[in-house]
Amino acid sequence: MADILRIKDLYKSYSDHQALKGVSLSVVSGQIFGLLGPNGAGKSTLIRIINNIIAFDKGDVCIDSRPLDQFSSREIGYLPEERGLYKKMRVTEQLIYLARLKGMSRFDAKKAIKDWFSRLDIANWDKKNLEDLSKGMQQKIQFISTVLHHPKLLILDEPFSGFDPLNAQLIKDEIMRLKKEGTSILLSTHNMASVEELCDKISLIHHGEIVLDGRVETVKKKFGANKFEVVFSGTSQSFSNALWIGAKVISFKEKDDTITAVVTLTGRMEIKEIIASLIGKVEILSFRELLPSMQDIFLRVVAPKEELIANE
Ligand code: ADP
Repeated sequence: MADILRIKDLYKSYSDHQALKGVSLSVVSGQIFGLLGPNGAGKSTLIRIINNIIAFDKGDVCIDSRPLDQFSSREIGYLPEERGLYKKMRVTEQLIYLARLKGMSRFDAKKAIKDWFSRLDIANWDKKNLEDLSKGMQQKIQFISTVLHHPKLLILDEPFSGFDPLNAQLIKDEIMRLKKEGTSILLSTHNMASVEELCDKISLIHHGEIVLDGRVETVKKKFGANKFEVVFSGTSQSFSNALWIGAKVISFKEKDDTITAVVTLTGRMEIKEIIASLIGKVEILSFRELLPSMQDIFLRVVAPKEELIANE
C-alpha cells in the first residue's frame, strides 16, 4: 500500500534544544497511526513540521510521495489540540472559507457541509455565529472543518477532548468510516484506551527519538509476559498435575462450576504441548493470552527506571 506520509531521519532543534533526533515513520493509506509520547517528547514539533508551520533542519518529509511544500496542506486535514475558529463568523460561511483555502469550490464545499451536518446531527445552526453554539457543537464544527476537503491525511491531536462520551463515540465512528474509505490518520493522544480501540500501528517518541514502534498487537505481544488465562471445569489439582514442568500457576479463582487459572510458561514446553497435556485431565472452556494494555506499555517504556522498581 502507498505511503501517504513518509518521514525519514528527521532532525529539529530550537536554539539550544534538540527536539527531534532522527525520527522516521510512515503511514499507509487507510491506516490509523498512533503518535504517542509523554509531554515534551517532540510530538507537536513533528506535527507542526508536517503541517508546514515550522521548518526542519535535516531529513525527508513526503506527503503522498511528494516532498513537503506549500501545496501539501491541501492533502492534509489538521485538528489541533488548541481549537480555534472565528467566534463571530457564521458557521457555514466559516466552513466554506476554510474549504476554499484548501482548494475546494464553493459549490462542493456547500454540498459537503450539508452531508456532514446531517451525519453529525447538526441542524438549523448554519446561520448562527460560532459563539452561539454549545461547546460540543463548536467541537463538531471544528472536526468538520478538518475533514471537509477530503484530505488524504488527517492529523488529529487529542480529537476526543471536549466531547461528551456520546459525541466522542460519534466522532470515533466517523474516524473509522473515513479510515475504511482510505483516509490515513495520524492520531496524537494520551488516551491509551482510544489507541487500543482505533490504532493499527504506533510510534512512541521519547526525548525526540522513537523508542518503540510497530503494529499494536505486535507491540503488545512483545511486552507480554508469556501469561495465559485458562478457564476450565475440573479440579485445580488435576490442572496443576497436568501442567507438570511446562507452566507455573500464578492464581486460581473458582466461580460456580468453573475455575479460572492464570499461568505463566516456564519455557520448557510450548503452548500447544501444554494444551495437549491438559486435554483429558480437565475440560478447557477458554484459553487466551493475557497481554499488557498500551497504558502499561507506555509507562514501562517512558517511566524512569527508579519509579518502576519502586512500583514493583
Ligand atoms: P510534545 O508535543 O511531545 O509535548 P513538543 O514538540 O511541544 O513536545 O516539545 C519538544 C521539546 O521541544 C520540549 O522540550 C519543548 O520544551 C521544546 N520546545 C517546543 N517548542 C519550542 C520552542 N518554540 N522553542 C524552544 N523549545 C521548544
